[in-house]
Amino acid sequence: MKLTHITVALSLAYGAVGQVFNPFTDSNGIDFWQATWNTKVKGTKGEAQWGIALPPASETGLKNEYIGRLVVPKTNSGTWMGLSHASEMTSALLLITWLDGDEVKTSFRYATGYVAPEIYTGNATLSVISQSSNKTHYELTYLCEGCWSWEQDGVIGSQVPATTASAAQIMGWAQATSAPTNPGDADADIKQHANDGLFGAVVASARNSAYTKWTSLATATAGTPAATPTGNSTGHASATGAPSSAVPSATGAACPRSNPVTNQTWDYIIVGAGAGGIPLADKLSESGKSVLLIERGPPSSGRWGGTMKPDWLVGTNLTRFDVPGLDNQIWADSAGIACTDIGVMAGCVLGGGTAVNAGLWWRANPDDFDYNFPAGWKAADVEPAVARVFDRIPFTERPSMDGVLYKPEGYNVVAGALAAAGWQNVSADGVPARKNFTFSHPDHMFSGGERGGPLATYLVTASERKNFKLITNTSVNRVIRSGGKITGVEIKAFLKGGQCGTVKVKSTGKVILSAGAFGTPKILFRSGIGPQDQLEIVKKAEPTKMVNSAQWINLPVGDNLDDHVNTDIVITHPNVSFYDFYKAYDHPIKADKESYLEDRSGILAQSAPNLATVFWHEIEGDDGITRQLQWTARVEGSHVISSKKAMTISQYLGRGATSRGRTTINAALNMVVSKPPYLHNKHDVAAVAAGIETLRNSLSYDPAIEIVYPPKNQTTAKFLASYPLTTSYRSANHWMGSCKMGLDSGLRNEGTSVVDTNAKVYGTDNLFIVDASIFPGMVSTNPSALIVAAAEHASQLILGLANNSSAPVPVSSSRALSSSAHTVAWSSFETASSSSMAGRSSAVPANSTVVGPTGTGLPTSGSPIATASSPSTNGGVQPLSMRAELKHALGES
Ligand SMILES: Cc1cc2nc3c(=O)[nH]c(=O)nc-3n(C[C@H](O)[C@H](O)[C@H](O)COP(=O)(O)OP(=O)(O)OC[C@H]3O[C@@H](n4cnc5c(N)ncnc54)[C@H](O)[C@@H]3O)c2cc1C
Repeated sequence: MKLTHITVALSLAYGAVGQVFNPFTDSNGIDFWQATWNTKVKGTKGEAQWGIALPPASETGLKNEYIGRLVVPKTNSGTWMGLSHASEMTSALLLITWLDGDEVKTSFRYATGYVAPEIYTGNATLSVISQSSNKTHYELTYLCEGCWSWEQDGVIGSQVPATTASAAQIMGWAQATSAPTNPGDADADIKQHANDGLFGAVVASARNSAYTKWTSLATATAGTPAATPTGNSTGHASATGAPSSAVPSATGAACPRSNPVTNQTWDYIIVGAGAGGIPLADKLSESGKSVLLIERGPPSSGRWGGTMKPDWLVGTNLTRFDVPGLDNQIWADSAGIACTDIGVMAGCVLGGGTAVNAGLWWRANPDDFDYNFPAGWKAADVEPAVARVFDRIPFTERPSMDGVLYKPEGYNVVAGALAAAGWQNVSADGVPARKNFTFSHPDHMFSGGERGGPLATYLVTASERKNFKLITNTSVNRVIRSGGKITGVEIKAFLKGGQCGTVKVKSTGKVILSAGAFGTPKILFRSGIGPQDQLEIVKKAEPTKMVNSAQWINLPVGDNLDDHVNTDIVITHPNVSFYDFYKAYDHPIKADKESYLEDRSGILAQSAPNLATVFWHEIEGDDGITRQLQWTARVEGSHVISSKKAMTISQYLGRGATSRGRTTINAALNMVVSKPPYLHNKHDVAAVAAGIETLRNSLSYDPAIEIVYPPKNQTTAKFLASYPLTTSYRSANHWMGSCKMGLDSGLRNEGTSVVDTNAKVYGTDNLFIVDASIFPGMVSTNPSALIVAAAEHASQLILGLANNSSAPVPVSSSRALSSSAHTVAWSSFETASSSSMAGRSSAVPANSTVVGPTGTGLPTSGSPIATASSPSTNGGVQPLSMRAELKHALGES
């Protein structure tokens, strides 16, 4: 057969994928449309193949099935390979395969988030047409029925092949370097995959009128599934390791006999202990009023009783969260850490994102507040808060306590080219407004050679106050309210040791949601606050719990979702060399381990995986808007480039981008990105293209730099046309905007805002939001320091409010969506609130002790090392390390 290599250029809703497919006829006589590729997984013997045969488009009764052919290269250490029937690992039907002796085993799985996928309980059926195994490969040819649409716990999804000639079927693959621990066992654990990627198969090329004849070859129904967690089909590493004891069950943990926090009535209840919640809790508790901080996840850093750690940290008070060089482990093993109810990566542990992130710490560019925020939140208003944040958590460019930058070659290479091209070398946190043609060392919040940040500062001072209490392992389901008046929150033990019941807030008190860009909308939806379509979904899912529809408050919660738009390029340079931070998790180099444990020095005091240069540029679009770009270089290959001399440079499109997405809730009450916020208009696309061109030009100043991705001969336009617009390829993990702050109340028709400039939810008396979700638009840099600053600023506004102060929106201007029922609710709480305000004064704190996560009382130091962190001047050209948020596409995990 003549093989014609055809590069498929796909144009789908979320983007496009370049992939080589050829016709192939197997020994059964089935004609496949087939891809052959190198999985670049260590120790593989040869290439992998996946082929697809589809029924003719006229056979509409067969549209939900296909015949597949999977050829998997073996490795010495064993393997498994998985396929996703969509472009993402999450919320799609997964097929996992591995060998049990000579038999190919299969298992359908389903993942709700970046966690171990569950056994799929829907109707897909796999029948074997043929299977074989030799020294180098195993092969499975199968009929997959019911495979293009799926349902798990009431959540449905589908990717039925289209009938148009140019349509393509996007599939994901993932391969691991270890076999399931017990391959004969249907519930055997499997380990994290080592690499993954996407296919785009032209549907028309896979259709064949002989299809039904071939299906009759499928006689043997494949044995019941085995394996547990699968890898993912996206660019992410997923949580597939053995579940830790902290992994919650679907229904949460048992309720304890007594729930101390429900016996008290609080001035402030804050939900979520992350970048927004922790600083806010500290600042509000300074007032002397009682503050309860409720965190769903378990303790993370050693200071707070965290226990998750590799063997080499046993006997120290350090956990994996404390050691900067282990931060990337979130992409290799996130079991018990990543949120199980969110379709993208998010940390559900004490500290939230600040416990799992790469610690990049940027003083706000004044333009970020001036451009995005309404009056009262402009740079001049927020600057005192920014200054307070950096007084408490200074930045450092030299996290190692000996002041040395380890493995600086990556920084030197990129900074050298930029300097030659005319870019200015700055110490970015010293000159936050200089974000055009400037480059810097990465600035970090690390302190004393450890993670530091809000967990090591704000939470420590809050916990020293008697009027403050923290509880972990406890999830807030919803706020309890009567109209717009919040009376408390309903809590549920999420993990062992968590609490259950209703926690009351004083009549003068306030509830503040700081559960993140997905967690906060979820609580709002479950409290009857949001767009009608979302509230209807919740009502169906938990009819007895949902607030009566007459009390629904209709706001555009979940709209305006934003994230940095990521686009990677990969370069190689002879001077750089990869340091294996992943291996260091279990098997650190002895000298590096000792240096870290003894002195908090060495490369493990730097963020994984060797963050190098960070640089910025502004681009003015034809629409007159200036858009901000940030690039972060790291010494690590990606996009199936595994050279030890490779660096990935991630370009983020930030402030000024006008595309927005949406997050919604599904029937299983999981949050999904139903519309990714990437490149919905030509001006955003143009800015990304201009950035890549600028980058290519600037790097050309060093002839030893070779840009290997995109290939030299590919134009930027073609490169971008083939770059998927999925969260797995484009997310920077900087989610924000889903509960936008603004003056245009979302209660009104066309209004876009969920909170007012006091961070109070429109239509409520005493419900506030302080986290990433209130940011109206994306910022210049990684956002955590700005979120902490926003919390500092919001705390002053909230403390300054008279009880129940904001003026309600007139009934006549209420948003149309939720009908007259809404109007009734609004007017009734308006009355209720004014009466409840009368004659009350805020009660003085009271009781309350610190409940440390381990129940041991006040925090202990996580380290014997002093915690002074020294912002350095920007000396020579040297490196750093990072990565966590940079996961992305093919093979970075
Ligand atoms: C892997 C990764 C790497 C990153 N790297 C960087 C970086 O280097 N620098 C940077 O500036 N930014 C980085 N970010 C982004 C940054 O960490 C986030 O933007 C920031 O933490 C968001 O703050 P937040 O307060 O909105 O939410 P979070 O920090 O996510 O906090 C929300 C908290 O609420 C809790 N919660 C959720 N639902 C409930 C509930 N129902 N009940 C009780 N508690 C609940 C969660 O468990 C969590 O602890 C990274 C993010 C990720 C995921």
